[in-house]
Amino acid sequence: PDHQNPNITVITADAPMSTPTHGGRAKCLQRLVRLDLPVPRTVALSFDAVHRIAAGRFPDMPALVDAFEPETLLCVRPSSEDPDWGGPGAILNIGMNDARYVDLADRIGQDAAAGLYLRFVQAYAIHVARLDPDLFDEIEDTGAAGLSAALRAYEEEAEETFPQDPARQLREVLRSMARAWEGTSARLLRQAKGAPVDAGLGLVVQEMALGLGQGRGETGSGVLQLVNSDTGQRLITGRYLSQSQGREALQGGSESLYLTRDPRGPSLEELAPQAFAALTSHADLMRRRLRAEMQIEFTLQNGQLHILDGVRVNASSRAALAIAVRLAEEGIISQEDAVLRIEPRAVSELLHRQVAPEARREVIGRGVAASPGAATGRLVFSSSEAQASAARNEPCILVRRETSPEDVRGMHAAVGVLTERGGMTSHAAVIGRGLGLPCVVGAARLHFNPQRKTFQGEDGQTYREGDVITLDGTSGQVLRGSPEMVEAALDEAFNTLMGWADAARDIGVRANADTPADAATARNFAAEGIGLCRTEHMFFETDRITPMREMIFADTVEDRQAALALLLPMQRNDFTELFRIMEGLPVCIRLFDPPLHEFLPTDRAGLRDLAEALNLPVSDVTRRVEAMGEYNPMLGLRGVRLGITVPEIYDMQTRAIFEATLDASREGAPVVPEIMLPLVSAKREVELVRTRIEAVAAAVRTERGRDFTYRMGVMVETPRACLRADEIAPYSHFLSFGTNDLTQMTYGLSRDDAGRFMSDYVQQGVFSEDPFHVLDVDGVGELLATGVQRGRSTNKTVTLSICGEHGGNPESIAFCRAAGMDYVSCSPFRVPVARLAAAHLAL
Ligand code: PEP
Ligand code: MG
Repeated sequence: PDHQNPNITVITADAPMSTPTHGGRAKCLQRLVRLDLPVPRTVALSFDAVHRIAAGRFPDMPALVDAFEPETLLCVRPSSEDPDWGGPGAILNIGMNDARYVDLADRIGQDAAAGLYLRFVQAYAIHVARLDPDLFDEIEDTGAAGLSAALRAYEEEAEETFPQDPARQLREVLRSMARAWEGTSARLLRQAKGAPVDAGLGLVVQEMALGLGQGRGETGSGVLQLVNSDTGQRLITGRYLSQSQGREALQGGSESLYLTRDPRGPSLEELAPQAFAALTSHADLMRRRLRAEMQIEFTLQNGQLHILDGVRVNASSRAALAIAVRLAEEGIISQEDAVLRIEPRAVSELLHRQVAPEARREVIGRGVAASPGAATGRLVFSSSEAQASAARNEPCILVRRETSPEDVRGMHAAVGVLTERGGMTSHAAVIGRGLGLPCVVGAARLHFNPQRKTFQGEDGQTYREGDVITLDGTSGQVLRGSPEMVEAALDEAFNTLMGWADAARDIGVRANADTPADAATARNFAAEGIGLCRTEHMFFETDRITPMREMIFADTVEDRQAALALLLPMQRNDFTELFRIMEGLPVCIRLFDPPLHEFLPTDRAGLRDLAEALNLPVSDVTRRVEAMGEYNPMLGLRGVRLGITVPEIYDMQTRAIFEATLDASREGAPVVPEIMLPLVSAKREVELVRTRIEAVAAAVRTERGRDFTYRMGVMVETPRACLRADEIAPYSHFLSFGTNDLTQMTYGLSRDDAGRFMSDYVQQGVFSEDPFHVLDVDGVGELLATGVQRGRSTNKTVTLSICGEHGGNPESIAFCRAAGMDYVSCSPFRVPVARLAAAHLAL
C-alpha cells in the first residue's frame, strides 16, 4: 500500500486540485464548495492514484475511510477531464452490510434500510463482482424479503457471502471503476470522442445523503436544470421522486414530480416550497459563477437540501448556441467565450434539417457523408423522374451510379441525392453542397440495378422506385422509411453569434456560387463575395445546350461566332443577376473549364436530337462525338487550354461580364468583376488570354462609351502553377488555389474515382483523412505554401485565396490562414462554418 497519499484530497475551498489532475467533476465540486453550497463531504482521487489502483496498488485505505465520519455510507463517481469521454457509472450506498442494516432500520425504518442495502447488493454484484444482471430479475419486493432474496442470489452465484467489510467494499468498487476505464472498449469509445490515448480518470468519493427513510420533512432526490436541453430556452426542467436516490427520479414514471408548478401534475415547488426556493437560488448562483448552464443532482433528507453534483447541461447544438449567446448577453461570459464555445462543425447542423437525435435509425446503407442534412423522399432513378416527381409536389431522392452535369436539373428537383460512386469532390458532392442538398455518395455496397430501378440494402431487402427512404448526409447513412426530423435553426441567436464571430476573425470568407439561388444563399449567410463562379453550369439549361452544341460542332469561326452570339445575351443576364444580388461585393467568375465533349449527348435519343438540330445524319454526329472523346479528359483539352485553342468562348464570356458590369453598375453599387483563368500551368497561357481580354475590354469601352475596371487572376490548381507562381503572379491581380484539382494532380488520384477505395485507404491508415476533404498539409500543403510564397515574392499586392472544397473545412482554413491567404471560398452552406472556424483561429 501507498502510505504517502498526496493523491487523496479532501475537497475544500483551497485544496490543491485541477481538472487535468483530478478531472472535471472533482474541480466542479470544489467550485460548489467555494460557493458555500451544501455539498456533502467529498474526497478526490487523482488520475495518478486511480491509475495505480487499476494496477492493484491502493492508496492508504484507512486514511481514505478516516476522511469521513464513521458509519456513513459512501458513493463513488467518475471524474474524467472531459465529461464527454464517459466513464464508469456511479456506485452508491457503499458501506451497507448486515450490521448497518439493523442499525439503520431502527433509525430510518426497515423498508428504507432494506432499499439501501438492496440497491447496493445489486450494483455491487453487477458492476464489481460482474455477475449476470438477470440474477435479480425475479426480485420484485423492495423491502426485507427482496433484500434476503438478493443476498441469497449473490451468495449462490459469487460463491461467497456478500462482503461485509466497508473498507473492502470501497476498495473493490475503486478497483472495478479504475479497471473499467482502462478496458479496451472504454478506451476506443473515448478516443472516438477525441480523448487522447493517455486520458486519465479521477474518482470522487462522497458521503451519501441517503434520499430514503422516514423522518421529519421530505426525503427524496432529483435532477434540475434551468434550461431546455433541446432548444436552450429558459425553463426549469427535471424531476423529483420521494424516497429515491441518484437519478432515479428521471425514470420514476408517474410517481415522480415536476419541479415547478405544472398543470400536468403535482410539483416539488408545492410539496416543499422552501427547499425548492433554495434549490433554484443555488442553481442560479451556479449558473452565474460557473458560467454555464448546469444540471444539478440534489437530495432532500428530512427537508434538508444537499447538492451532490453538477455537470454542464448536455445540450443539442441549437441549445448550446442559444445558451452561449444568452450567457454573453447577460454579461456572464464574454462574446469571445460564447464564440469559442460553439464548435464550427456543430453550426452546419443548424443550417439543415436533421434526423432527430432520439429517432430510431434503420440503416440500410452507408456511404461518404458528402453534404449535410437529412431528407426523406420516394426513390427515383433518373433526373427526368425527379423532375416529374417535383412537378407532382412529391419529395424524391435521386439515386444514380454517379451524377454528371446532365443531372443538375434532376438534383434541383430532388430533396436528396444518393450515388454508388464518387467521393467528397465528385460532381454529386460538389453540387449537393452548393445546393444545401443532403447527399450520400460512394455507397458502393448497395447493389444498384439502374435497369430494374432497384437497389439492394444492407438489410438484404430490395428497394424500388417509389419506396420511401431517408438520406442522412451528415452521417453518410441511408435509412429506411421516414424517421422523425428536427428543423433548421437560423434564429436570432445564430445571427448574433455569427456577428460576434465576424468581429473576431481576420481572414475573409466568400462563397462558391454559380446560380442566383446560390448567390442569394451566400448573401443570406453573410459571405463577403463570390470566390468562385463556375460558369460551365450555366450552359446546361434547356435553351442553351443546343446553341452550345452547335458552337462545339462549328467548322468555321463564323459558325462558331453565330452560335456564341446566341449564348452571349444569356450569359450577360446570368452575370447581371449575380452582380445585382451581390450588390457591389466582389464576384470572381471563372471562365469555361470542362472539356467540351461533356456537353455532347451520350445516348441514342440525344444523338438523334442533335442530328436534327444540326441537320446532319445521326452517323455523322455519332462519329464526331466519338472523335472528340479523350483518353484522359481531366488532363486533356480543358481550362485555359480551351481558352487558347478556341478563344471565341472566352471572348464571349468576357464580353458578357463587361457588359453586365456596365448594366449592373448603372443601377447600383459599382461592380468590379474578377475574371479567373482555370487550369493554368504556364505564364504564357496567362499572357495570351490577358491580351485577348484587354482587347475585349477596349472594344466594350468604345462601344458603350463608358469606362469600368476589372481584375484578372489565375486559378492555381496544377502543381506547375504552384512551382512557377513567381512567373505567373506579375500578370495577376489575384491567385486562387483550386485544391480539388491540385489534390488530384499531386496524388495522381482521380477525384471522381477515389471514392471507390478511399474508405479502405483511410481505414488502413494509408491516408489519415480523405485528402479531398481535409487538406493534405504535408504534400498539397507544401505546394500551396510554395505557391503563396513565390507568388508574393514577385507581386506584393496579389490577393491570395483558396476556392477548392477545402475552403469550408476548419483544419484546412487554419492552414490557409497560417500560410497568409486573404480569404477562403466555400459552398454557401459552409460559409457559417468557415466564419466561425476563422473566428476560433483568431481568438
Ligand atoms: C478546384 O479544382 O479546386 C476547383 C475549385 O475547381 P473545380 O472543382 O471546378 O475543378
Ligand atoms: Mg479545378
